Amino acid sequence: MIVVVGSLNMDLVVRAPRLPRPGETLSGGPFATYPGGKGANQAVAAAMLGASVAMVGRVGDDAFGRELAAVLAGAGVDGAEVRPAPGMASGVALIAVEDGGQNMIVIAPGANAALDPAAVDAAAPLLRSCRALLLQLESPLPAVARAAQIARAAGATVILNPAPAPAGPLPAELLASVDYLVPNETEAAALLGGEAPAEPLVLARAVRERLGVPAALVTLGARGAVLADAAGAIVQPAFSVQAVDATAAGDAFIGGFAAALVAAEPPAAAMRWGCAAGALATTRPGAQASLPTRGALLALLGENRADPEPAGE
Ligand code: ADP
Repeated sequence: MIVVVGSLNMDLVVRAPRLPRPGETLSGGPFATYPGGKGANQAVAAAMLGASVAMVGRVGDDAFGRELAAVLAGAGVDGAEVRPAPGMASGVALIAVEDGGQNMIVIAPGANAALDPAAVDAAAPLLRSCRALLLQLESPLPAVARAAQIARAAGATVILNPAPAPAGPLPAELLASVDYLVPNETEAAALLGGEAPAEPLVLARAVRERLGVPAALVTLGARGAVLADAAGAIVQPAFSVQAVDATAAGDAFIGGFAAALVAAEPPAAAMRWGCAAGALATTRPGAQASLPTRGALLALLGENRADPEPAGE
């Protein structure tokens, strides 16, 4: 089983002819709401690929909270530990998108901020029974660190997606409980304090060494992904698809990678699953609405038999 300890947000999206300047009011439209949050996206991604998934999180005591919980359940995710936080609003992301695709996002974490170490402790039996734990940085760091410690001590594989990019260094006690650190290139640069090597293999090795984690897996958008671990390094080229919207590609990648790992696939095969899931997510607009099914993923993997390339030292 996979457990995700993370965020659930309702994305409130309005399209506009251009992005507003400070102080300016623009008339835009249309408007739509989409269930999101990196934690919920990754949970749904893994569940859609056939993994058994449970989530730990907090929603508001409001209509968005009930809708977020219903959407998780509809995707087959066990949401018994996604509880409403009394008197709090659900997390929301206010998103303006201009016609060229550029966006502006402000997140109000709301009930996600109520996920504290005590809430994680209450879910300890779940954390001790999982094979893989997925974590992101949209939840309070003390809760993220506590979840990592509990699951790691019980033998789970701990996967941390350091997104959104952290403003400062990650706590040592969190990094000490991480097996796979999975940033995109921007997040990898932030982890390295801004001076990031441009060459992906060098970048992945630098993240692994500087942060002291067993494995660093850096996603590279349309260029695929690269893994640096104790066995060396592997480059997985991207699957060639007609990309229309990159939203949630990273979440799909993590869901695919984790689903493969818990199915006892080796890391190189899990990277192919991740890249295939990420590629498919770019072919449809939206976040959770763009996440691929197991059938679509297996079809893409079957069409592309090329194995990942071990990278020379
Ligand atoms: P994030 O969404 O976190 O910024 P990336 O952009 O690195 O993450 O995308 C995650 C993964 O999705 C990549 O490693 C890649 O496998 C896949 N992917 C993203 N964009 C494309 C694309 N244009 N074509 C094919 N695969 C893609």
